[in-house]
Amino acid sequence: MKNLVVIGYGGMGGWHVQHALKSDVVKLLGIYDIDPKKAELAESRGIHAYASFEEVLADTAVDMVTVAIPNDQHKPVVIRALEAGKNVLCEKPVTLSSEDLQDMIDAANKAGKIFSVHQNRRWDVDTLAMKKLYETGEIGEIFNIESRVHGSRGIPSDWRGMKQYGGGMIYDWGIHLIDQILQIVPSKIDTVFCRLDHITNDEVDDGFKLELMFENGCRAYIELGTYNFIPLPRFYMQGMKGTALITDWRENCKVVKCKAWHESDVMPVETAAGLTKTMAPRDSITVDEYECERPVSDVHDYYRNFVKAIDGIEPQLVTHEQMMLDMKVMEAAFKSAELGQVIKF
Ligand code: NAD
Repeated sequence: MKNLVVIGYGGMGGWHVQHALKSDVVKLLGIYDIDPKKAELAESRGIHAYASFEEVLADTAVDMVTVAIPNDQHKPVVIRALEAGKNVLCEKPVTLSSEDLQDMIDAANKAGKIFSVHQNRRWDVDTLAMKKLYETGEIGEIFNIESRVHGSRGIPSDWRGMKQYGGGMIYDWGIHLIDQILQIVPSKIDTVFCRLDHITNDEVDDGFKLELMFENGCRAYIELGTYNFIPLPRFYMQGMKGTALITDWRENCKVVKCKAWHESDVMPVETAAGLTKTMAPRDSITVDEYECERPVSDVHDYYRNFVKAIDGIEPQLVTHEQMMLDMKVMEAAFKSAELGQVIKF
C-alpha cells in the first residue's frame, strides 16, 4: 500500500479519488485543490483536504501524488513534487512540449522517483481488440487503421477551450488516440500530416484529422470531431486477409475475412448510372463474417503497475520514452497543421 494525495479535485481528480482505491494498492491521505470550494466539497465527503501544496510536499507520509489539474500547470507541480521526493502520476497530456517534458524527466531521474502519465485509454477494449488483431495476424498483415471519435457538443466550455491552459482537442483526446495507435503499431513513424478544425472555437482546435505513415508501410488515420451529428465508426482496420470494424465503444469487433479471393460468378449491382461488379457486395460463399471475443480489461492495473514500479518489482508500463514519443507526434501534428505540409518524423 502506498499513501496517495490527489492534486486537483475536479472531474478527473474525483475519478482518481474513487478509482485509485479500487486498485487496492493505495491508501488515500487526501486531496489538495487551489479552489477552497473544492476543499470544502472534499471535506463534506469525508476526504481530508490539505491546506496548501506545500503541506502535501512536507508530509513525509505521502508516497505518491496524482496530478489532475489543467494541462498548462502540470510541469511546475510535477517537478516540485519530484524534488520533494514524491512519486508522481500525472494526467495526460503530461505537458505541452517535448522541452518541458525533458525537464520533467530529468527531475524524475535526479530524484530517483517514478514519474508516469495516466494513459488509461490503453485499457479501452476497442483498442485492445485492434491490438490483438494486429499482433495475431488474424486478418493478415495490417496496412490501414482508422481511429475516430466523434461528438456533437463542441469543445467543453471550460479551460479546454483556452490556449493558455493547454486547451484544444489534440491535447485533450489526441494524446489518447495517438498513444493507442502507437501501442498497436510497433513500427517507427515515417511521416505526419495533420489538419486542425476550428468549427466552434477559433482559439484552439476543436477537432483534427491526423495521418501517420509508419516505416513498415502501415498507415494510421486518426480523426476527432466535436461537431459530428452522425458519428463514423470508432475503429476500421484493413489487413491482407480481411477487414475489421468497431462501430461504437459498446459494440464488439466485427470481422469479415476473405476465403475465396478469385470468384467467377460475381453478381453485378445496378447503380443509377449502370452496373458494377467491382463494387458488388460479397456473400457467404466468399467471406466469413464473425464477432471477436471482447477483450478482458481492468484500468486499475495502471495503479497496480505504478505501485509495483515504485517497489522495483515491475518496470513502469507507460515509459518516459513512450511519453516523449507521444509528445513529439503531437508537436509534429501542430507543425504540420501550421505549415500545411507533411512532416518527416
Ligand atoms: P477540472 O477543471 O474538472 O478540474 C481541475 C481542478 O484542478 C479544479 O478543481 C481546479 O480548481 C484545480 N486546480 C487548478 N490548478 C491547480 C493547482 N495549481 N493546484 C491544485 N489544484 C488546481 O479538470 P479535469 O477535467 O479534472 O482535468 C484535469 C486533468 O485531467 C487535465 O490534465 C485533463 O487533461 C486530465 N483528464 C484526463 C482524463 C483521462 O481520461 N485520462 C479525463 C479527463 C481529464
